[in-house]
Amino acid sequence: STIPKIVILGAGYGGILTAQRLQKELNYNEADVTLVNRHDYHYFTTHLHMPAAGTDSIDHTRVAISKLIDEFKIDLVKSNVQEIRLSDRKVVLQDGTLSYDYLVIALGGEPESFGIPGLSEYAMTIRSINSVRLIRQHIEYQFALYKLDETRTDRLNFVVGGAGFSGIEFVAELADRIPQLCKEYDVDPNLVHVYNVEAAPTALPGFDPELVEYAMDVLRKKGVEFKIGVAIQECTPDGVFLATGEEIKTATVVWTGGIRGNRLIEAAGFETARGRVKVDDYLHAPGHDNVFIIGDNSLMFNAEGRPYPPTAQIAMQQGVTCAQNVVASIRSKELKKFVFSNKGTVASLGKGEAIASAFGKKYKGWVAAQLKKLVDMRYLFTIGGILLVLKKGRFL
Ligand code: FAD
Repeated sequence: STIPKIVILGAGYGGILTAQRLQKELNYNEADVTLVNRHDYHYFTTHLHMPAAGTDSIDHTRVAISKLIDEFKIDLVKSNVQEIRLSDRKVVLQDGTLSYDYLVIALGGEPESFGIPGLSEYAMTIRSINSVRLIRQHIEYQFALYKLDETRTDRLNFVVGGAGFSGIEFVAELADRIPQLCKEYDVDPNLVHVYNVEAAPTALPGFDPELVEYAMDVLRKKGVEFKIGVAIQECTPDGVFLATGEEIKTATVVWTGGIRGNRLIEAAGFETARGRVKVDDYLHAPGHDNVFIIGDNSLMFNAEGRPYPPTAQIAMQQGVTCAQNVVASIRSKELKKFVFSNKGTVASLGKGEAIASAFGKKYKGWVAAQLKKLVDMRYLFTIGGILLVLKKGRFL
């Protein structure tokens, strides 16, 4: 047929928003839309720190993609993307190939280990439903193992590498979870150590310093031991070596210290900076008017020339503009420039605690924690309406 084929790779924040908007804006038989994703569910990456620590369920962290899109309008393909072949306008999947006229790449980022020896082998990452299931089980298993040999107190050491957004949110949940685990496994809480190690001179870089101080105070009270301005130099099966020469013996290292773009994008031949592609104002990959890159794999700059950090917020907004621009391309209409509208940032600090900067103001404690819930529910409402809010929302 002569109907243009649109292929969207990845059903995360960027991909789902693109698919839903295309579904809404395209007329009947105006284009064929295919959404490819590794799993048949969409997961809330911004919520993964909770099931990772065991403070919330997997069920609250994902939803079937079929519940979010109209499968009569969009073909859902559950497969692994293996290669993007720009010159052939094809995408190679684990079990077949797809051709496209328009391609939207929304595959999300990957952990960046900065070449630190042993990190990719021995550290776990908060990345997907599968990766957080492993973290949760692994932590519980350390408690169980310790009970069989109480000389091995190193099993009760937990190291979180990175005190950025996800590191802080995870370490907060972990600190909330430890008392429960101690009770369940009859372990003296004084024997447990939760370390948060960050190479940068501050935790939560980019956040207001007063809020950062508040966050660290809250977490210290929950038992987190910070090592800020200290790089992890090596990770081994027995623990981590720090730049100070200190070794922390542990079987549990969760690395949140950096993300990079998806390796498939470099492999496709795009020019990248740490795996991310500098897209134009319309979200095009340079030199390809039919290829759009959004979310963690795209690189865009603010008015001061600083790159926007990769967030769900920007990925969603890009998804909307991207869908509009794909439709405009098909209709030979003028494309829209992407303009990021910053709605603020909220970082959760565990049960009942958070920090936020929004509407030009700072919030902390209970108020910020309610803002976090609002942000989560607003997202559920955006992608799935009130039913999804009722089904997956956390009201308490
Ligand atoms: P993703 O949402 O990562 O989606 C990519 C999708 O592609 C996934 O479904 C994946 O399964 C699929 N995929 C990947 N590779 C393949 C393949 N080869 N084949 C098929 N499918 C594939 N941002 C905020 O704005 N606010 C927050 O509060 C916040 N909190 C966070 C907390 C944590 C713990 C973490 C880890 C991140 C947080 N972020 C937050 C960042 C945010 O989650 C990301 O920026 C966002 O998910 C990026 O969206 P995306 O669409 O680019 O990719």
